[in-house]
Amino acid sequence: MWANRKRRPSLGGVLHLWCLNLWSGRFEAGNKTQHFGGAVMTSDIRPQPGILDIALYEGGAATVAGKSNTIKLSSNENPFGPSDRAKEAFSRSVHQLHRYPSTDHAALREAIADMQHLAADRVICGVGSDEIIHFLCQAYAGPGDEVLFTEHGFLMYRISALAAGATPVEVAERERTTDVAALLAACTKRTKLVFIANPNNPTGTMISAAEVAELADGLPPQAILVLDGAYAEYVEGYDGGLSLIEVRDNVVMTRTFSKIYGLGGLRIGWGYGPKAIIDVLNRIRGPFNLSNTQLEAAEAAMRDHDYVTRCRLENARLRVWLAEALAEVGVPSDTSLANFVLARFANATEAEACDVYLRDQGLIVRRVSGYKLPHCLRITVGDESACRRVAHAVAQFKGKR
Ligand code: PMP
Repeated sequence: MWANRKRRPSLGGVLHLWCLNLWSGRFEAGNKTQHFGGAVMTSDIRPQPGILDIALYEGGAATVAGKSNTIKLSSNENPFGPSDRAKEAFSRSVHQLHRYPSTDHAALREAIADMQHLAADRVICGVGSDEIIHFLCQAYAGPGDEVLFTEHGFLMYRISALAAGATPVEVAERERTTDVAALLAACTKRTKLVFIANPNNPTGTMISAAEVAELADGLPPQAILVLDGAYAEYVEGYDGGLSLIEVRDNVVMTRTFSKIYGLGGLRIGWGYGPKAIIDVLNRIRGPFNLSNTQLEAAEAAMRDHDYVTRCRLENARLRVWLAEALAEVGVPSDTSLANFVLARFANATEAEACDVYLRDQGLIVRRVSGYKLPHCLRITVGDESACRRVAHAVAQFKGKR
């Protein structure tokens, strides 16, 4: 990880720092120079507490050295890409490149409100749902506050909590599933935010609406429950927790255009919650955080309901097929409700060996030891030929073909 790598400063860099210090009249003896993580700093220049505890997020690998014709199944992307309507909107946006985008995202928020049956003035849009997660931590958690998330929860919860100077608190799951009782037991008077992804990444498991409501009901009064719905569209009939938000004032939902809408490369997400909370988040949002291109492609994608339905159905069909094909060769997984399967191996050594074998075949899946699942590999549900290729390769690895 970059954050942990020791880097030797170049001579030019050292001279530059020295000159800067001299210029500012704050030059100090060499023994005051300190090493923070990988960075060399003088004792006066320090980032906020928590920042140097952040381990850089590593995205899913996209290439294998020496291989062409690889299949990327490491980032839970939609193998079918975005809808044609979204692509057309993207192309049209070229005519607006010289214009600043709207600051209030009104057209995109209206599209979201129409299609999701919710109130446009309670929607906030961001650079991926990552940015909404970041806003929540920045606005509601600081030094001395606790941000809760689950044992195998999405890594950005910890990163955003640390960036805000808050204390990340990881809570045990039950058989790779969110444990509501454990989360409630971990709450204190310092708990400000509780993040759960439903379905969760990388486990693919989900808890019921009744359990989510129990969690919202049991939180201390100063805490917000954040329902991360990055994979909500993959679950037939699931509203991402919307109905709960309508009756409570302590629940916020985050959603993304990166998964079923096939726009991961463009970076667009949104959040929905009580007006008072959305108003707070908008105060720290950059006025031009989304470009015209992002806004227009996302609006078209949101309005193309049929495309989303087709992707959901195809994902569900192939996910069941893939999970069964893996189980048949001795690689079980929990029932996934998302667009990936968490394949379980006998141990970390076997999972790593399988990953190496798959890479050798040009198949890129995701190791999840950073999510405390070293004996697992997360495999995105690709198109039919990708699913067949990966199932075949895992079977060969297990000596079953
Ligand atoms: N939440 C979860 C659970 C995710 O898996 C992801 C993407 N990996 C995100 C949020 C962030 O997605 P984005 O920033 O692309 O909207």
